[in-house]
Amino acid sequence: MNFGIDDLPVRDELRGKSPYGAPQLDVPVRLNTNENPYPLPEPLVERITERVREAARHLNRYPDRDAVELRTRLAEYLTTTGKHPLGRENVWAANGSNEVIQQLLQTFGGPGRTAIGFEPSYSMHALIARGTGTGWISGPRNDDFTIDLAAAERAIAEHRPDVVFVTTPNNPTGNAVPAGTVLALYEAAQAAKPSMVVVDEAYVEFSHGASLLPLLDGRPNLVISRTMSKAFGAAGLRLGYLAAHPAVVDAVQLVRLPYHLSAVTQATALAALEHTGTLLKYVEQLKAERDRLVGELRGLGYDVTESDANFVQFGRFADSHAVWRQILDRGVLVRDNGVPGWLRVTAGTPEENDAFLDAVRELKKEQSA
Ligand SMILES: *Cc1c(COP(=O)(O)O)cnc(C)c1O
Repeated sequence: MNFGIDDLPVRDELRGKSPYGAPQLDVPVRLNTNENPYPLPEPLVERITERVREAARHLNRYPDRDAVELRTRLAEYLTTTGKHPLGRENVWAANGSNEVIQQLLQTFGGPGRTAIGFEPSYSMHALIARGTGTGWISGPRNDDFTIDLAAAERAIAEHRPDVVFVTTPNNPTGNAVPAGTVLALYEAAQAAKPSMVVVDEAYVEFSHGASLLPLLDGRPNLVISRTMSKAFGAAGLRLGYLAAHPAVVDAVQLVRLPYHLSAVTQATALAALEHTGTLLKYVEQLKAERDRLVGELRGLGYDVTESDANFVQFGRFADSHAVWRQILDRGVLVRDNGVPGWLRVTAGTPEENDAFLDAVRELKKEQSA
C-alpha cells in the first residue's frame, strides 16, 4: 500500500488539492507561462556576476534584513516610471510577488477573515488565501471579462472582505481595469469594513495605459504589487515588491521571516535595476509583438480579448482543451487556464509567434476544408 498525502494529518482545507503549476512539456515553442522570451543581455549578466561575487565575500553574515539599498532603488524605478514620488519607506520586497501577496494575507487575512477576487483572474490569489487560512470569495465578471462594478460593489457590501484583489492588467484575460473602477472598489471596500485593496500590477509595464501608483496618494489601505518576473525578464530571480503607505510596510514586517531575502537575490536585483533602460526596450518589442498577435488572430476570425499584458486570450472554442492539444501537436505549447472557450498565448520572440500563428492558421484551414 502506498502511503500518501491523505494518510498524513494535513489541514482539512488542503486535502485532495493539487499544487499550482503549468504543465511544462518539452516542445520547441513554449508560450504558456508569460515569461519574457529574451535572455538577460550579456552586460547585465556580467554586472550580476560582479555584484554576486562581492556579495559572496560576505555570505558568512546574514543579509540586510530590511533590504534598504534594494528598496531605495526600487522606489527610484517606480518614481521615474510611475510618475509618482515614492521613497524606500513606501516599498517592500520579497521572493517574488507571490511572497509579497502571502505576507499581505498573513498580515491582513488569516483564519476568520476573507479575501475576494474577480474571476477568472490570477489563481494564486485564491491558493495563497487557502494556504494562509483566509476564506476566499469568488467575485463576478462580465462576459467580456471586464469587472461588473455594480455586482462587485454588491459582493463587497455583502461579504465585507478583509482583502480585495484587483489584477490589472488581468491574468489570464489580458485586459486592464480602468482607474475609476479601482477607485470605486476602494471606496466600496472602505465603506464595508474598512479593508485592504491589493492591486496586482505584475504586467503593468506592458500596458497601453499608466500604472495606478498615483492612486496611493491619500489611500493608506491601497497596495500595489509588482514583480521582476515579467517585464524585467527575471522570473528565475524571484523578486517581487509592493508600494504602499509606510504603515503597510511596517505591518508586513510583523510576518516576514527574518532575512527572507538572500544577499545573492538582493545583489542580483540591484544589478538588474542598473539596466532598466535595456530591459524596458525588450518590453517595447514584446508590446509590438503582442499587438501583432492580437491583429493576426482577429484577422483569422478569432475572438481576442483586449490585451494590456504580454499575452493574449483568444477563442472562442467549443472545446478549448481539444484546440490546446491540436496546437501542441504542432509543437507550440499555449495555456489552457480552464476559462471555458478560451486559451492564452504568451507573446514570445517574432519567430516563436510566427510558429504559433502558423499552427493556428493550419487549424483554421483544416476546419474550413
Ligand atoms: C506572473 C504573475 C505574478 C508573478 O509572480 P512572481 O511570484 O513575482 O513570479 C504575479 N501576479 C500575477 C497576476 C501574475 O500573472
